[in-house]
Amino acid sequence: MAGTLNFAPDDRYNAFITTCREAPFGDGALAGVAVAVKDNISTAGIQTTCGSRILEGYIPPYDAHVVELLRGAGAAIVGKTNMDEFGMGSTTETSAFGPTRNPVDRERVPGGSSGGSAAAVAAGLVPMALGTDTGGSIRCPAAFCGIVGLKPTYGRVSRYGLIAYATSLEQIGPMARTVEDVSRLMSVIARYDPRDSTMLDRPYDHQPSADITGLRVGVPEEYFGEGVDERVARTVRDAIGVLEDLGASPVQVSIPGMRYALAAYYVISTGEASSNLARFDGVRYGPAVDTRKTWHEAYRELRHANLGPEVRRRIMLGTFALSAGYAGRYYTKAQVARGNIRQDFERAFRDVDVIAGPTMPTVAFRFGEKNDPLSLYLADILTAPANLAGIPAISVPCGRVEGLPVGLQVMGRRFEDERVIDAAYAYEQEVRA
Ligand code: GLN
Repeated sequence: MAGTLNFAPDDRYNAFITTCREAPFGDGALAGVAVAVKDNISTAGIQTTCGSRILEGYIPPYDAHVVELLRGAGAAIVGKTNMDEFGMGSTTETSAFGPTRNPVDRERVPGGSSGGSAAAVAAGLVPMALGTDTGGSIRCPAAFCGIVGLKPTYGRVSRYGLIAYATSLEQIGPMARTVEDVSRLMSVIARYDPRDSTMLDRPYDHQPSADITGLRVGVPEEYFGEGVDERVARTVRDAIGVLEDLGASPVQVSIPGMRYALAAYYVISTGEASSNLARFDGVRYGPAVDTRKTWHEAYRELRHANLGPEVRRRIMLGTFALSAGYAGRYYTKAQVARGNIRQDFERAFRDVDVIAGPTMPTVAFRFGEKNDPLSLYLADILTAPANLAGIPAISVPCGRVEGLPVGLQVMGRRFEDERVIDAAYAYEQEVRA
């Protein structure tokens, strides 16, 4: 079986930057399944912008590893989804192509940065999509739009062909309406690729199981503390109660390093971004640099005109944090904090099999409601720790507050993506029954 899928969705949420009206598909595990791909993942022959003017019109000459795998499994790649520019944001509002709207409530943000992927899935335009998660960008929009999203263990899915934001933190991962579909998509994309030197050869081949008898579920106090909406906290505690009814046993744990998680995340991610984004110089990609001017002038003008304010802010922050005389005060300390958080999780995982808490401290907010960078950065407090530790984390819908979806987050030991999938699956099967 092979053919062409005609894809002309009514994209009233601005979920897509590019759609492929005639999407070819082949044979295999995903034969004929429409899959949307976040616009920072390279697709040969299909524009890939990262949500940025600086890459407008850029058509990659090659496929990312995950896209090769999707095509090999017969999937139809039907379009490229909207995102915060270069993945920098939690609302999809920083996209140069306009914000995506949340299908649950158009006046609210879909979350980000993979907001287009989440909205496309939530609105039923596609059954599954790929997102990327550097500090929460799969889990946040999954929680806000009421779908399922997995950030795999760092090193489980190849980053080859992913346009880098913060290399040491990010992973490509699956998003869908059910845990089963997330698992299906994960089985296709988690395959060893020697072109990503941070990968381990640990392919994912798993059928979700709802049997969680005896599973020890860590409940970190820090995930229910200051800044977390009480109604969200209560909804998530109820969800953990469901896991308990299914035979799991909750255990109180602590991740004291959480205190420094956001500071560490924003120093490390901006530092890596300042280096990764130096390649957008108007010579190799995007709008051409004006060669009559001095290099410094031309470069400054081009980047000012084609990179949004949030991206420029991050490049400046990162450049500063890494600069001579300051690196010891910021970058080195951030690495120490990162090590502490990793150890906190390792310690906790001696006593428990998974750790559960809310994905986001609040439900989806209104457009413009959080307009200063700091309050937006704070929204990542519960998701960024898993990126710093490199551990797998899933968000699964677990109820609503004032009609808006809440996500239950389940984290696991490195390379135990199967276990977090099973815990989420058990919960989902129980509440759907
Ligand atoms: N909101 C976080 C940031 O802006 C996470 C983004 C992401 O995971 N790509 O960096």
